[in-house]
Amino acid sequence: MSSGSHVYGYSAVLMGSPILLKLFDNNQALASQVFRLIKQYEDLLTVNRAQSEVMNINHAAGRAPVTVSAPVFELIRCALAASLVKDSCFNLTIGPLVKRWRIGFKGDSVPPAGEIATLLPRTRPEQVILDDEAGTVFLTQPDMEIDLGAIAKGFIADRVRDYLKLQGVEQALINLGGNVQTLGSPPGGWTVGLKKPFGEADALVGAITVENKSVVTSGVYERYFEQDGRRYHHILDPRTGYPLDNELDSVTIISTDSLDGDIWTTLIYGMGVEKGCALLRHQPGIEAIFVTKQREVIFSSASQFSFTLRDFDYRLVTGSTA
Ligand code: AMP
Ligand code: MG
Repeated sequence: MSSGSHVYGYSAVLMGSPILLKLFDNNQALASQVFRLIKQYEDLLTVNRAQSEVMNINHAAGRAPVTVSAPVFELIRCALAASLVKDSCFNLTIGPLVKRWRIGFKGDSVPPAGEIATLLPRTRPEQVILDDEAGTVFLTQPDMEIDLGAIAKGFIADRVRDYLKLQGVEQALINLGGNVQTLGSPPGGWTVGLKKPFGEADALVGAITVENKSVVTSGVYERYFEQDGRRYHHILDPRTGYPLDNELDSVTIISTDSLDGDIWTTLIYGMGVEKGCALLRHQPGIEAIFVTKQREVIFSSASQFSFTLRDFDYRLVTGSTA
């Protein structure tokens, strides 16, 4: 489309989140196709209903390998690889703990320490067996549960981008409730807001501008509950079974694929600023923006995006040498 064209927004609620698609064309039929595609993938991957391909694997835990479709197998392969990285805080078998904590759902409360200790042995990624040839996934212990909640949106955002590309769309943005994927380079780039932790719904720390990149944020303010004056958020530390506790309020990853963004937000969230920046030095395509509880905004590097600070209670710490 020519520069200065109108942007058309299409919204829906899917995967329990508000979804926004932006196109430079008035094309409701295409938007409906995109929402249908998202729903199809949600139906394969969800663990919030009794039935899905992932739930079939969970129901057969300790009993039998389960054949899954190629995209689900690929996603589980990626999730398993990220879970097996040394000292990784990403864990695809975190399901039993997520289900017990119920963070962000009705009835959430701090489980007794004894229960957490009982659940931890059911969250060992080493006990997931993939068979490439048969296309099967086997959870070798009973009561194990895969949970792809940390990466399903990133995976789906990439599929939407690929689909739009195939349809000949040159510029688009899809926001899957915090996972943003962009296609093309409209004049001035795509601007994505960086949310202010625990602020009003539309309050921003700053604005990130990208072209052809994904922007994924994981934050402790997204889903949490409070008990006895303490906050418990939805990203769990697989080593302890409790929410990860460090200096961070949020981590944003800018990358080509949203799946990478989704995996790396969890990995880096678990590492903190210093270790995270050290690791990202060897990953040129992956860049992080950390927002700390001390109201600092820290970049691992900034070659794929530009950033404008909007809230001057926050302090920009650029070109981190951490
Ligand atoms: P995100 O919003 O992408 O940060 O993902 C959060 C979701 O990932 C949670 O609601 C859980 O379903 C799941 N989850 C929580 N802790 C972990 C973890 N340590 N590793 C993998 N997935 C997790
Ligand atoms: Mg994620």
